[in-house]
Amino acid sequence: MTPVVALVGRPNVGKSTLFNRLTRTRDALVADFPGLTRDRKYGQAKLGELEFIVVDTGGIDGTEEGIELKMAEQSLLAIEEADVVLFMVDARAGLTAADIAIGEHLRKCDKKVFLVANKTDGIDGDSASAEFYALALGDVYQIAAAHGRGVLSLLELALAPHLEDLVGEQGDADEGEDEEEFDEEALARMLATGEFETGEEEEKQNRYADLPIKFAIVGRPNVGKSTLTNRMLGEDRVIVYDMPGTTRDSVYIPMERDDKKYVVIDTAGVRRRGKVHETVEKFSVIKTLKAIEDANVCLLVIDARETITDQDLSILGFVLNAGRSVVLVVNKWDGLDQKVKDDVKSELDRRLGFIDFARVHFISALHGSGVGHLFESIDEAYESATRRTSTALLTRIMQMAQQDHQPPMVRGRRVKLKYAHAGGYNPPRIIVHGNQLNDLPDSYKRYLINYFRKSLKVMGTPIRVEFQEGA
Ligand code: GDP
Ligand code: GDP
Repeated sequence: MTPVVALVGRPNVGKSTLFNRLTRTRDALVADFPGLTRDRKYGQAKLGELEFIVVDTGGIDGTEEGIELKMAEQSLLAIEEADVVLFMVDARAGLTAADIAIGEHLRKCDKKVFLVANKTDGIDGDSASAEFYALALGDVYQIAAAHGRGVLSLLELALAPHLEDLVGEQGDADEGEDEEEFDEEALARMLATGEFETGEEEEKQNRYADLPIKFAIVGRPNVGKSTLTNRMLGEDRVIVYDMPGTTRDSVYIPMERDDKKYVVIDTAGVRRRGKVHETVEKFSVIKTLKAIEDANVCLLVIDARETITDQDLSILGFVLNAGRSVVLVVNKWDGLDQKVKDDVKSELDRRLGFIDFARVHFISALHGSGVGHLFESIDEAYESATRRTSTALLTRIMQMAQQDHQPPMVRGRRVKLKYAHAGGYNPPRIIVHGNQLNDLPDSYKRYLINYFRKSLKVMGTPIRVEFQEGA
């Protein structure tokens, strides 16, 4: 369960400034979902091991009319979907009528609210903050978002303990850093003799073979997610869900196929067969983000009949940011003529060619063609993301890469790679140790990543390679 934190407050108090600061730690691509959210921005944030979703709600000031009223409604919806609200006020402007209106609303909401006074740089924070206690929302956290002052203590002292309580002990068993223990003496021996004991350490079988693979079906509205979910669940399965559900929660549906267990994370809302009516609000960005975080593998569904949009790319950005495996599903492939098919393929190459590690499937969820093969790619991506690889094997591959193509000389000395070991999985992380690694050019880093990818036959998941100076 990934908690959601909403930034709320009137315009200009510094919400986007704080948003950027919170999400920067994770190189967040900020998702912009035109038409759906208008003024909302979503980002992924990370605080230590704790991951959460941040929503910038735009702004409300309580006096909205017309289009602004619509925007305020969006903010209210974001509050509803959030687990925690950071209510921001402007310490320089002081308490305003709009703050009081928002505060009243928040007190009624039954949500955890932290009151944050921003822009306390260069003024007496304590006296400027005093009047905000009148909002009766407890402590006032003083920050200067633009300079970062107070942000860390807000996060560490207030937000983190609360979010940790929310997430509880239900940590994901199949996700983890799990620094591989390795035997340095054995490694030294191997490096000295050039003989690598790859066999014994290698764990072919998956530690979590008994756990189901969780896959999420994500994509923007109307690309065919519910049709695909139904199709993957199988023809004769009686679907009992009527999706009255909340807007923010996906439905988790266990299923089996070829004696393998899966859980489909359905973001679309499977409709009961025979029922024609559409669920009204079936697309929620937060629901999508939470599903991505919770899945092992994401099926990103794209509509072959429409061009690839920024929304498709935003969702993909979230999948990649979260380090999740991805399978690209181009749906509605039925009844297209060759010319259209060719155009779709070249557009895919052009816009999504950069994720060359993802399998692409052309399917028709409506008719079922190609759907069965999706499971092969799901299995492969999951296996790639969770496979254990020994230090010996990784070091061996690194050395082969080095033999095929020497790292460059820097200031008269050759950059030296010494050994590599696993630093975690899901997504796989490989840590390379060596000398002068800070001088290693990006092109060589990319070469190494690709070399690892090809040698390990990793498909469907990003690999992260980190470089550590020294032994
Ligand atoms: P939003 O409308 O609530 O998203 O507010 P913005 O983040 O766009 O900030 C509004 C203005 O306040 C911008 O000009 C920011 O540079 C400024 N601002 C934001 N944080 C701080 C701060 O900590 N100190 C000061 N002095 N100005 C800030
Ligand atoms: P969702 O909003 O992503 O869940 O999309 P739906 O599953 O509700 O599908 C949206 C529309 O696309 C519906 O009218 C479906 O019948 C249609 N659709 C879904 N999959 C296919 C497909 O493979 N081929 C065609 N031609 N139409 C499809």
